[in-house]
Amino acid sequence: MMDRTASDTASLLAQLAAAPGVGDLVPGDAVEPAYLGDWMTKAPAGTALALVRPRDTAALSATLAACHSLHLPVVPQGGRTGLAGGAAPVPGCVLLSLERMNRIEGVDAAGATLTVQAGATLQSVQEAAREAGLFFPLDLGGRGSCQIGGNLSTNAGGNRVLRYGMARDLVLGIEVVLADGTVLSHMNTMLKDNTGFDMKQLFIGTEGTMGVIARAVLRLHPQPRSTQTALCALPDYASVLKLLRHVREGVGPTLSAFELMWPDFYGLVTTRVPGLEPPLPHGAGAYVLVEALGVEPDEDAARFERVLGAALESGIVGNAVIAQSGAETAKLWKVRDASGELRSIFWPHVGFDVSIPTRALGDFVGELTERLRRRWPQVQTVFFGHVGDSNVHIGVKVGDGEQPEAQIEESVYAVVGQWQGSISAEHGIGLLKRAHLHHSRSPQELALLRTLKNALDPHGILNPGKVLPA
Ligand code: FAD
Ligand code: ZN
Repeated sequence: MMDRTASDTASLLAQLAAAPGVGDLVPGDAVEPAYLGDWMTKAPAGTALALVRPRDTAALSATLAACHSLHLPVVPQGGRTGLAGGAAPVPGCVLLSLERMNRIEGVDAAGATLTVQAGATLQSVQEAAREAGLFFPLDLGGRGSCQIGGNLSTNAGGNRVLRYGMARDLVLGIEVVLADGTVLSHMNTMLKDNTGFDMKQLFIGTEGTMGVIARAVLRLHPQPRSTQTALCALPDYASVLKLLRHVREGVGPTLSAFELMWPDFYGLVTTRVPGLEPPLPHGAGAYVLVEALGVEPDEDAARFERVLGAALESGIVGNAVIAQSGAETAKLWKVRDASGELRSIFWPHVGFDVSIPTRALGDFVGELTERLRRRWPQVQTVFFGHVGDSNVHIGVKVGDGEQPEAQIEESVYAVVGQWQGSISAEHGIGLLKRAHLHHSRSPQELALLRTLKNALDPHGILNPGKVLPA
């Protein structure tokens, strides 16, 4: 496909444009640069054969049927905020953007569900839920651009997984178009549906390699009426584990975030991000941001203070600050969200998104730091993440110039494998991590994934070169 002649290209383009139901398309040389990459990747102009932006499931189906019969590679694109290069164009591909399928179809307040086309942004879904007096809890930094289809295809996580689960847990039904254009519609709106094989799971978290998500029924929750937020300084990781247990027992299911910042991260962001003051002094062994979302403001606040007060008295927590207003809450979150600034204050670095069993995370960080230091004595690291979900984000920087990326990746993933961790906790595999998938998936599992892929996409047109190792 990479060696197409100019006349092959013109002929394929003409056949695709003439296929019934495909609608208008943008030829490759006129595709705007924004479509040629995502958050992590950039492809040269002319990489794609065409850009197609269907408005409904029928047009999406017609496009895939045409690409299937022409054997054209297809790259589904949502908001292109993915962090694993899953939406990156491959040479000669048809870019299939869902951006025009952005309709919120309706909210069922009694059933607490929201029906939506896959191209709606996460933020528009959050707003539609809020207008109906309900709550869609999935939230992440790319909310204004990322789409529900992208969130489901990457099984996105974010800051409230501890309480509400990942994207997978927030979807009841989906409509998917297979590689050959077949529409599989199972827009289930009920919590219970044990009619055998749960086929939607084939498409959730598989990053556009098994089918294209066209519509979804999302699960909503009650709107929280109170937010309690605190930042705590602790002596060490053992205390972090004690605090996690203590707040889980103390505030029960209202616990919505338990975000840990190791001192390297906390020190860096509170000294290098302009205007970001440290809410607590430097020098502690760990900093934890705790949040609870409740429905009884006065009682929730009193309970939260009581629970944190007990943690201070018993010495689990050395120091703490509890937000007393929305502005103070935002200030505390700003420290954790400063991870978004690492591109300017900690650049270049090699980034990771791994899971390690929560009980072992402290030892993992210790051992990894030790190993990296042995190999690169000048190494700098940042560790932070959703420790209640056993998910840690890591940045590794060896000097100021080009990073020995492959060696750093091998060093980190070897330790992840040794601790039976996952090389991708929430960002997916895409293009950038597929060479490392073997650290987390056995040859038997990879063989089964290939069998499923071949059954659903016999010509291998859907997002080729992503997720599965070559
Ligand atoms: P894209 O990047 O466009 O695509 C991602 C993958 O899904 C690609 O493989 C693409 O082919 C496929 N895809 C897209 N739409 C469809 C569809 N309709 N059907 C089939 N396949 C499709 N992630 C987290 O988990 N937690 C976080 O806290 C988090 N924070 C982030 C913060 C920032 C600032 C940014 C930029 C990203 C963050 N992410 C986070 C990454 C997150 O996975 C993505 O932002 C989001 O889920 C991807 O949605 P998207 O629409 O941008 O998808
Ligand atoms: Zn994260």
